[in-house]
Parts: sequence; C-alpha cells; structure tokens
Amino acid sequence: MKVDPPQAQSFAPPLRTLMGPGPSNVSQRVLDAIGRPTIGHLDPQFVVLMDEIKGLLQYAFQTENNLTIPVSGPGSAGMETCFVNLVQPGDTVVVCQNGVFGGRMKANVERCGATAVLIEDEWGQPVDPNKLEAALVANPQATTVAFVHAETSTGAQSDAQALVALAHQHGCLAIVDAVTSLGGTPLLVDEWEIDAVYSGSQKCLSAPPGLSPVSFSDAAVERIKSRETDVQSWFMDLNLVMGYWGGDGVRSYHHTAPINALYGLHEALVILAEEGLQSAWARHQTNHEALAEGMNELGLGFVVPEAARLPQLNSVTVPDGVDEAAVRSKLLEQFNLEIGSGLGALAGKVWRIGLMGHTSSAKNVEYCVGALKDVLAEA
Ligand SMILES: *Cc1c(COP(=O)(O)O)cnc(C)c1O
Repeated sequence: MKVDPPQAQSFAPPLRTLMGPGPSNVSQRVLDAIGRPTIGHLDPQFVVLMDEIKGLLQYAFQTENNLTIPVSGPGSAGMETCFVNLVQPGDTVVVCQNGVFGGRMKANVERCGATAVLIEDEWGQPVDPNKLEAALVANPQATTVAFVHAETSTGAQSDAQALVALAHQHGCLAIVDAVTSLGGTPLLVDEWEIDAVYSGSQKCLSAPPGLSPVSFSDAAVERIKSRETDVQSWFMDLNLVMGYWGGDGVRSYHHTAPINALYGLHEALVILAEEGLQSAWARHQTNHEALAEGMNELGLGFVVPEAARLPQLNSVTVPDGVDEAAVRSKLLEQFNLEIGSGLGALAGKVWRIGLMGHTSSAKNVEYCVGALKDVLAEA
C-alpha cells in the first residue's frame, strides 16, 4: 500500500444560476428522481421505465421512429453514434458549418474514413440552403448531409426542414444536431423527415449531462442494417445496441445502462410532457423576448439576425473596452450566475446567455439583466 487516501470530504456544490450554453439548472423533481434506489438494468421494472422513456422521447422529438433511445453518453456520443453508423469508408458527406459543432461533424466524418465536403457560413448566420444545393449538385456521389439545427456556439437557428428536403432531393440522408433545440424550439422529426437526430440531456431538457437522445428513420435503419463494413465502434454499433433497447420486449445485455441518470431523464421528460411541447416552446420565446428587451436597455446588441435567433441561446456583444472574462468572474462570484463566453471566431467578442429548459423563467431573465447592469456599471 503506497498510496494514502487524499484529504477529501463530501462535495457541496455552490447554488448557481446556470445561464450559459449548458448545462441548465436541474429541478428538484429531477434531482429527487436520480436519488431513488438503484435497480438492475434488466429488472422487469427497469424495462418498463425504458419503454416509457422511448415513448416520452418520441413525443419530444415528434416522431414515431421505433429506434428512438437515449445513448449512454453526452451529446458528443450521440453525434458519434449517428456518424459511425450511417457513414462508411469511402463515402462523401456534405457538412454545413456555421459554428463550432459543424467542425466536429467534419472531424467525425473523416474518422469514419469518409470525405467531408465542407460548406461554410459566417458564424452567427444560419446555414445557407443555396450553398448546400450547390454542393450537392457538385457532388452527386454524396450519401449524407449533416448540419446543426441550433448552433450553441453562436445562437443561430437554421431551417432544418428546408435543408433536409434538399438532402433528400439529391438522394442523401440527413443527420441533424438538435442538442440545443430539443425541448426549446420547434423540432418536428417526422414532419421534416429527418433521418438521424441527436440531442443532449443537459440543455433544454434540464436533466444532468451524460445522456444523448437519438432517433433514426426507417431509411436510416435500413442503411445501418445493410452496411458492408462493421461499425468501427463496438460500443456505438446500433446493430448491437438495438438488442438492448429493441422494441420487441426481449432485452439482452449490451452495457450496463446508467440507471439513476435514466430516472432523471425520465422525470425531465415527464415534466416536459406535463407542460406540453408547444407551451415549452412558447415559454422559451417569451423569456427570450424579455431578455432581448433587457439587453437593449443595457445597450448590448445581438450577433444573430432577428429571424434566426435561438430563444434558448443569446449571443450578445461585449461593449468596447470591457474585459469580458472579468465580467463573467464577477457575475459568478457576486451573483452565483454563470453565463458563457464566445467560442472560435466570436471568442472575446460576445457573451452567450442561455435560457434553456428549467432555467428559462421570467425571474432568471430579471436576475441576469439586473446583475449585468450592476457589474457593467462597475466596469
Ligand atoms: C452541447 C452541444 C454538443 C455536445 O454535447 P455534449 O453533451 O457536451 O457532448 C453538440 N452539439 C451542440 C449544438 C451542442 O450545443
């Protein structure tokens, strides 16, 4: 025995108001659910819970897709699950990039041994459907289109329905990142005919991070089943995962599901169903408008043009001469309030104020505007 136990005690986190790009605040109801007794992951009662989670996710995604499950891992694991299953070596994938997460899609494509054709839009702008169409015309060999519905790095929302329609017109399947949109802004997986979509538990669903809801259309499932090569990731191979989450009632061991985390996701989805999707979308919009009014009073402008603004993620410009990091530190220290910094092309230039899920309330808008006002007056 060479290693002594370190000096460590139970961790008592501070009580923060989480108004960054995620995680959002988790309600006491969800925290209580996570604290309930652990049962076995093949327990008949756990199987009942799994089936309910599938149904609740189908509601949240507005889909009848049978393959609608939470991947055991954060949003990035859902992203990777979509790419490794739908993309084969030698494929061509058109990737739309208008922020950080499009860049990660490109990296995923390349790690699958495929070629990424990147179309780029300015950070803060939505994806331009004309550029996608031109890329599809120029690359008739493309099999897949990938884009981010709600770019959390900038706060821009793209027209998912139009982009998916273009993909289909050119014989491609569409992979959509809906990590930040699910539960916060309209996302209609069946109506928009999305083939593969992934999200995250910690943004507008307000469950803790670590689970990634995904959904696959029949066309996507067909492609997965008829692959010529094995999925290079054993853990994310949906052909295997389906044996555990499969809809026919027979469950075989694949990996041990994060049982208590799934209690939390289930509760968060029950809360969403109780409120109703349309009411949740409307609440996000109302609170966004109130925040925009407050920012206007403080003289802070928005990065994204009004028509493409996400209600749940607001990028506002840092005034000239203000140290943006110092302001965020003061907000955290004096107000227990977390907001986000700019990433990539927007680093140092913007703050990202999240109004996601449980965090999206009139009270939090007022708190944030008041706190920023105080801190900016000092700066
Ligand atoms: C947060 C986020 C991700 C990654 O999710 P993690 O849970 O951090 O892995 C991917 N895409 C978008 C648009 C996101 O906002």
